[in-house]
Amino acid sequence: MNEIAPKKRIAILGAGGLGVCTALELANRGYHVDLYEEHSAPVKKASYVQEGKIHLGLIYALDKELHTAKEMINGALHFITYLKRWVDINPEEIISTPFYYGVHKGSLMSPEEVAVHYNHCSNYFKEARSHFKKDYLDLFESLEISRLPDSEIDSVANPDYMEAIFKTTEYAVEPRIISEKLTEAVLAHPQINLFLNTKITAVSDQGNGLKVHFTRDQNPAAEIYPEVINATWNGLLAIDKTMGIEPPQKWSHRYKFGNKVLIPLKNEDLPSLTIVQGPFGDTVNFRDRGLFMSWYPVGRTGWSEDYRAPEWDNQYSTAERIDVFEKSLEEIALRIPAIRNLKFRPEDISPVGGVIYAHGNQDVDVADSRLHTRFEVGMRSFGNYHTVNTGKYTIIPLLAVTIANKISGKTLS
Ligand SMILES: Cc1cc2nc3c(=O)[nH]c(=O)nc-3n(C[C@H](O)[C@H](O)[C@H](O)COP(=O)(O)OP(=O)(O)OC[C@H]3O[C@@H](n4cnc5c(N)ncnc54)[C@H](O)[C@@H]3O)c2cc1C
Repeated sequence: MNEIAPKKRIAILGAGGLGVCTALELANRGYHVDLYEEHSAPVKKASYVQEGKIHLGLIYALDKELHTAKEMINGALHFITYLKRWVDINPEEIISTPFYYGVHKGSLMSPEEVAVHYNHCSNYFKEARSHFKKDYLDLFESLEISRLPDSEIDSVANPDYMEAIFKTTEYAVEPRIISEKLTEAVLAHPQINLFLNTKITAVSDQGNGLKVHFTRDQNPAAEIYPEVINATWNGLLAIDKTMGIEPPQKWSHRYKFGNKVLIPLKNEDLPSLTIVQGPFGDTVNFRDRGLFMSWYPVGRTGWSEDYRAPEWDNQYSTAERIDVFEKSLEEIALRIPAIRNLKFRPEDISPVGGVIYAHGNQDVDVADSRLHTRFEVGMRSFGNYHTVNTGKYTIIPLLAVTIANKISGKTLS
């Protein structure tokens, strides 16, 4: 605590995964943080509904330069050790079963092409691990990938749909547990004021500071700060625009369902499987914490190229959400028949969704869409106003510490 004591006030906009981790890190370095959130609770949006995969770059095989894989591997190697700076977490309790990758028929890349990419990822993992001296999720020393013999495809998925299956040592972590722990930590921290139900409407440069404009209980108000970090993800571009800042690339916001079924599973009940390369889907077996399931053509329900996307979260009725869940399940069951054997009740289903902001305005069925990359991310600074494109959950802890290093002028040793 108090590595430096600048007694400096800072506003962080957005109490999602990134905003909360950055607030905790800066508060531990002596900052007084005002953290603003438009929702009624912290870490309940993208960082809560997402799949929790701590990416090792495998899915970004269409980024042939390996920029995205490197960004993800660097983030993944820091994920748990840096998260432990703020919360008490045992990775063994929150990890999924290891992922298989299934190359779907009609995939944008052949099994041979993805195998070359996986090999590059494995090699870079080795290099980065020896550089950072950190294990993946504090548990794994290497990234192992092997192709199953064709005769074994049916042990994981339906061979009518799959060209090949690869076994990997990539994992997901259960995001809801992490959300709970981050929420407890942020509420307990004496140097963080969390303002909920408070929507940021604009930021303006006053010369003597940055004025943060917000509405709470329909009342407009404002507060001046020497420094501001915008970590609002779905709200990022609209707030930046009020500062005259444009996004660096063409962009899109997508709404994607991250369906959960909250029943205990055994390892063998369901494979964790990512289906590549294109508009396909995933299953994740979180063992006693249930499963995640998504099918892109059904579950990617919203697309917007506006500065702020529609408020999709409020626009779906329960019946519409269940409909997306059921249609996704039908498609997934064709490819992963094991899911049909699971027994669950309607109340076990949690058909949530969230916004994905990314550079690129062509969908994932287009091979050269920028959506297949995620490396032009991180913080852009304009004087004392900083705006952060988080990119992926995987890189949040590393990004939070990097931001705190830049702002405090002190590098974490
Ligand atoms: C279905 C799905 C699956 C995904 N799977 C993965 C995965 O497996 N692995 C991975 O690495 N990434 C994944 N992602 C991406 C990942 O979720 C995001 O990159 C990451 O969570 C973004 O974190 P964040 O803190 O920037 O955003 P958030 O967690 O959304 O936080 C932003 C916060 O800002 C608040 N806010 C917005 N506007 C305003 C405003 N005007 N005023 C005040 N508050 C505001 C929001 O309410 C929110 O609480 C997935 C995303 C989705 C939707």
